[in-house]
Amino acid sequence: MLSGIIVKGIGGFYYVKTSEGIVESRARGLFRDENITPLVGDHVNIRISEEDGSGYIDKIYPRTSELSRPPVANVTQAIIVMSIKNPDINTWLLDKFLLMAEYEGLKTIICLNKEDLDEEAALLLSKIYKKAGYEVIISSIVESIGVEDLKLALNDNITVIAGPSGAGKSSLLNAVNPKLQLKIGDISTKSKRGKHTTRHVELLDLDHNSFVLDTPGFSSLHLDFIQDPVELRDYFREISKYGEECRFLSCLHDQEPDCAVKANVNTGNINQLRYENYLLLLQEIKSNRRY
Ligand code: GDP
Ligand code: ZN
Repeated sequence: MLSGIIVKGIGGFYYVKTSEGIVESRARGLFRDENITPLVGDHVNIRISEEDGSGYIDKIYPRTSELSRPPVANVTQAIIVMSIKNPDINTWLLDKFLLMAEYEGLKTIICLNKEDLDEEAALLLSKIYKKAGYEVIISSIVESIGVEDLKLALNDNITVIAGPSGAGKSSLLNAVNPKLQLKIGDISTKSKRGKHTTRHVELLDLDHNSFVLDTPGFSSLHLDFIQDPVELRDYFREISKYGEECRFLSCLHDQEPDCAVKANVNTGNINQLRYENYLLLLQEIKSNRRY
């Protein structure tokens, strides 16, 4: 018997990374009866067939997390990569990615890439998001900045990487582990709005017990998963923190009197842009509810 992790699944075959290499495996009928489908990211035990060396998945260990889009188990963290310029930083998109990561309960790191194109903007944004409660890595492929930090952050994790096309996700992963040889897109020939490619899900093996999902995470950024506007408050870390001081427990930090969140926006403890994005998301959720 061998233990391992499913790194790929295609047409009923699961590719399990073990200490003996990758073993092509099937799932036992048992799982179908129990209504469990093995997922990429699952920690499993396999038995090896004497005849042809193929594997049978015997046991799936309990999952610590399960993402549905993309379908993968045991993701431990999200790294959100945004470029400072080209494409220009989009804090609305960044805050939406952060919201998804908070909703999924993932540890989250923001990577601000292409620092070489505007160092000042990178530092300013880093300050804003650190203050909001996030870990931030500033990086540049051109100047070889931040790659070591990124590598350390990836170790011993299954990481979902999110971020717009052209932000530098492939370049950064190649820098962390050159054997990956991911294709680098040239955004001058690629749609700046991003491309949509549907593929199977696969974990890239970066060594050091580090795996990264090969498809960009959170590709669907619909807010249909939030039913109640009060949920949103908890997904903005700094708003949740200061909101404890509001006069009303039900305060949505919008038009209510004696709102501690608004007070802290005025004094600069909460960033104005973050607060505005919060209000926009609040409106979006409220209008979704009408249908
Ligand atoms: P992805 O779509 O997020 O995977 O982005 P890519 O890794 O394909 O990179 C998109 C483009 O940005 C490529 O032309 C890269 O050479 C370029 N790029 C990546 N990182 C940096 C960086 O730190 N600085 C600059 N100036 N360009 C970068
Ligand atoms: Zn309030």
